[in-house]
Amino acid sequence: MIAVISDIHSNMAAIEAVLADIRRRGITRIFCLGDVVGYGPQPRESLDLVMENAETSLMGNHDYAVLYEPNKFNAGAEAACYWTRQQLEDEPDAQRRAARWSFLGSMPVKHVIEAPEVGADEIVFVHGSPRRPINEYLFPDDVFSNASRISGSFDRFNHLCFVGHTHVPGVFLDPPDFYSPDELKNVFSFKSGQKALINVGSVGQPRDRDPRASYVIVEPGKIEFIRVQYDVESMAQKVFAVPELDNYLGARLKEGR
Ligand code: ZN
Repeated sequence: MIAVISDIHSNMAAIEAVLADIRRRGITRIFCLGDVVGYGPQPRESLDLVMENAETSLMGNHDYAVLYEPNKFNAGAEAACYWTRQQLEDEPDAQRRAARWSFLGSMPVKHVIEAPEVGADEIVFVHGSPRRPINEYLFPDDVFSNASRISGSFDRFNHLCFVGHTHVPGVFLDPPDFYSPDELKNVFSFKSGQKALINVGSVGQPRDRDPRASYVIVEPGKIEFIRVQYDVESMAQKVFAVPELDNYLGARLKEGR
């Protein structure tokens, strides 16, 4: 079995709860689709947990922003990015500091595996989309308003593709169509030779009006969407306690949007 996590956003309580849930299921292969940092109050701890537990962690637009520079960020996201960078710089232990920077700097933008143990001929992992791995958003509404963007993604993989970035979990099919976890009763069954693009949702800042941490597990022939409760209130308080982090970033955790 495989677990796929994404968009932790420096939310340590959420990633801890998800990792505990994954361990409880006996799953040892964990792939992270990026945005380990950005927005939240605990970038160091979140990076350490992903570094220790994930087989591969991809580069998201927020990881890129902290390492290089933000690209089309709003004011709150940009301020959080610079604060995060300073937190990593201010780590007093030189070895830890260097380990985190080198982890960020070596994140690939795309990762491909064969996974016969779950019946997958090929699994492609990216943060945004297979066409523009770091920055392109694939929203549920795009199946109506931007169908060529969805088809353009399907042209670039052969079986299963996992993405994050929008923080909205669900399954895209081609011809362009989208199914939320609710519509799927949390389980999507796949066949060999069939293409599906799966958004795993966000561990640390869900935006589908369910504040619980989101991730997926891949079992032979099926994908299950999982939600995990964590202490949202105390995480919001931690955001409020950092002046550089916009209060909105704490408030939205409680609403899951
Ligand atoms: Zn994100």
